[in-house]
Amino acid sequence: MKFSKHEKIDLLAIMISSISLIASFILSIDYLSWIAVILCGIPIFKECAEGLITEFDIKADLLVSIAIVASIIIGEIFAAGEIATIMAIGGFLEEYTVSKTQGRIKELANMTPQVAVRIRNGKEERILASEVQIGDILKVLPGESIPTDGRIINGETSIDQSTLTGESLPVDKKANDEVYSGTINLYGSFTMETTKVSEDSSLQKLIRLVESSSPENANVVRQADKWATVIVAIAFAAAILTYLFTFEIARSVTILVVFCPCALVLATPTAIMAAIGNLTKYGILVKDGASIEELARTDELVFDKTGTLTYGTPEVVDIVSDNPKKMMRILASLESKSEHPIAKAIVKYHDNEEELFDVEDFTMHIGKGVTGIVNGSKVIAGNRYLMESENIDLKDFETESNNISIFVSENGKLIGSVLLADTLRENSKETIRNLKKLQIKTTLLTGDNEKTAKYIANEVKVRNVKFNCLPEDKTNYIKEEQLLGHEVAMIGDGVNDAPSLKKANVGIAMGNIGSDVSVEAANITLIHDNIGDIPHLIGISRKTVRTINISIAFALTLNIIAMALAMFGILNPIEGALIHNIGSVAVIIYSSTLTKYRISKRDYNKSKNVVFYKKTSNVMN
Ligand code: ADP
Ligand code: MG
Repeated sequence: MKFSKHEKIDLLAIMISSISLIASFILSIDYLSWIAVILCGIPIFKECAEGLITEFDIKADLLVSIAIVASIIIGEIFAAGEIATIMAIGGFLEEYTVSKTQGRIKELANMTPQVAVRIRNGKEERILASEVQIGDILKVLPGESIPTDGRIINGETSIDQSTLTGESLPVDKKANDEVYSGTINLYGSFTMETTKVSEDSSLQKLIRLVESSSPENANVVRQADKWATVIVAIAFAAAILTYLFTFEIARSVTILVVFCPCALVLATPTAIMAAIGNLTKYGILVKDGASIEELARTDELVFDKTGTLTYGTPEVVDIVSDNPKKMMRILASLESKSEHPIAKAIVKYHDNEEELFDVEDFTMHIGKGVTGIVNGSKVIAGNRYLMESENIDLKDFETESNNISIFVSENGKLIGSVLLADTLRENSKETIRNLKKLQIKTTLLTGDNEKTAKYIANEVKVRNVKFNCLPEDKTNYIKEEQLLGHEVAMIGDGVNDAPSLKKANVGIAMGNIGSDVSVEAANITLIHDNIGDIPHLIGISRKTVRTINISIAFALTLNIIAMALAMFGILNPIEGALIHNIGSVAVIIYSSTLTKYRISKRDYNKSKNVVFYKKTSNVMN
């Protein structure tokens, strides 16, 4: 076990306090307990005062502080020291689990390398972002994050600078404009000259990621604090009433002690942190704790096809053209500006057969294809939709097949098409089967044509399919389902999926193959692209919420019983503090069992009894 300096000091205070309490008890020397009151109590008073002054926030701290002061006033120094020490232990355990999990998340985020494409002597090479030097010429494709600060040399685009400025509207940029590391290139492809090497950029991103993963972001945490306020009020009322009836101040103090809502406040953050820690082990990065709660309620999972259910590394299987060599050279030139898996496949197929032409006015039409001026001619490459919107006659070309078909036109005339085949991920079928066992409705949304979509859907046994989807169609589908009362999670990889990932109750991105835009938009990232872990993700989310509910129910029951006992004078403040703190420790231990959780057959069977709110949805297409 490794502790930070801060944690070591806390630990030392707890140890000295515990020893002084034990000595005080054995030797019956009351004033030894003062050591514990001072060492562990003062930090609690300080935090309570800060909370009250800066946020006017009434939290569990207040009750604890009052209980300690009240104990001191009635001369129960030992009880005061005990409460303070055990509270310090609870606080330490909580902080320790949080920092340990965040450390793990940092490690994981470090594993995803930041890369840059450098152009040198007319050749492109992929290098680590940390190896970029000032003056290097870099190429940035749509959907990628910008590796360093620099100036655009060639190309036009829009850039999402929200990570830097918080401004959500994209900013248009052209040659000579400055671009900043960590911001995201949206639509265009450009080359830039590096003006600053920033090792900080990836670090900044990382810090943001880790900070945003703090458990305070879970809605439930705030709810627990609200509850705490109510409980503080009840405890005061009960303490005052008891005093008015019995004139025994010890009973009132005991009530205050046992009713501290510590276990209640601990229930959510400890469970969520344990779950996040568990998922981190499987390479699943959770950005906000609240999405774990949302996933527990999720009853529909929407899949993107290319890159998500399939490996997203399609291969060219056929070329139809009168002059295939010429067409492929033009096409590869244009596609070298795109980050899309289809584009990569085409460029790879062409390889270095012939040098590529320069491309001007490159534009990406999300979910449709790409256009640009290649070697002086206007070239359009994409699906049937793009051709229709550009008024290109497809003549008698086959428009539907099991494969992805890309049409190519030059100066308004169709010059051929390319067929590409993509392979299903090995575990897609099993994942869908397991999700069904968890009573989750599965849906396939794709920008691809009907035949390919249905072919893949049939392979993995997804019944609900929507094809020919533009990005807004995907978003609209999710919106409709939400209106029908579904809680929807979406998993995708592409630039085109980013809006849907945001719209869904929970967005899950593919970390490896996925574009930076989608990772940024998602709540959860699968670092290793292993969709086989999704059932586990759902399973642990449900288990986490169950754990939280059980903990809260347990804590409330214990508090109420202890309060009744205190009212009738059966518990003294010392016993009260002990019972109360056994409750907190039990909750922490119970939550921590989540770190070892792994979905099992039993969870699948259990789900048979889960009843979700369901309406029969429209049959799509
Ligand atoms: P999916 O939803 O399956 O991930 P996309 O929305 O990314 O697919 O793409 C939908 C369709 O748009 C593709 O099947 C392809 O026909 C066309 N398309 C997208 N990008 C390109 C590109 N760079 N070149 C050619 N066609 C493209
Ligand atoms: Mg995709």
